[in-house]
Amino acid sequence: MIEFIDGQLAEWPLARENYQALGRTERRSLQLGDLTVGIQHNPARIVSTAAKTDAKTLAERPCFLCGKNRPPQQIGVEIAEGWELLLNPYPIFPTHFTIVSKEHQPQEGFPLDMVKMAEKLPGHTVFFNGKRAGASCPDHLHCQAVKTHELPLMKLIEKIHKLEAGRVATDKSLGLDMPFGFKSIIITPNLDGMSELAKIEETIGAEFISEGLLNAFVWIDDDGLLRICAVPRSKHRPSCYGSEEGQRLISPGCIDMTGVLIAPLKKDYDTLTDEEVRKIYKECGI
Ligand SMILES: [Zn+2]
Repeated sequence: MIEFIDGQLAEWPLARENYQALGRTERRSLQLGDLTVGIQHNPARIVSTAAKTDAKTLAERPCFLCGKNRPPQQIGVEIAEGWELLLNPYPIFPTHFTIVSKEHQPQEGFPLDMVKMAEKLPGHTVFFNGKRAGASCPDHLHCQAVKTHELPLMKLIEKIHKLEAGRVATDKSLGLDMPFGFKSIIITPNLDGMSELAKIEETIGAEFISEGLLNAFVWIDDDGLLRICAVPRSKHRPSCYGSEEGQRLISPGCIDMTGVLIAPLKKDYDTLTDEEVRKIYKECGI
């Protein structure tokens, strides 16, 4: 993977500049109950945060995840049947992949192939933004992957949710003080685990999957156990969303919901209060 990233950075000036700029991003942290939240000032992410995803805009632009429209420097590597791994040119972390379906098809369902991807990417979390929960390209099925240790929620779950507490747990059953709810599922490598995986959509909540109001995460933890986390959403953008005076250009997707809140604008980064961040999470989560 390192050779793949280095190769792409050597060939592709846009990606190189954005990964270099990432090293200069400011970050500060705050504590919301049991969740440690890092706010990242990341100006390049404005392309995603402010992305228009209405049907008209989507119909009028060439899909940037389709092979024929991608920049010539962007190389795809097959990671599972029907899926290609690409370097994300607008990174939030030093390792940030987009994993795209080879077919142009809508961002729907809960792709179980994420399990195969997680097995191929040890140390990484593969995640999926539902079409109404942060996907900036809702017309082309895709996931992303970053290093698990970058994601505060995944680290918290690994620490708190042990198998003794049951294979399925919630923030409440784990006794956590969280600004939003989640489900954590451990898939054991045996028959019970397989039957748990077979009914995963029911466990996560079929209504959130069908409505596209879901942030889902799949990873293999340090003990080799397959983990799935589901963060159901009530909506994509908080009521304060906007770039005007008194508004916030904050548009939470999967990474934000793990506790890394992306602020493309310096004024938001500088002035967001703990109470506002809590309210944003409460509004967007369940
Ligand atoms: Zn496409």
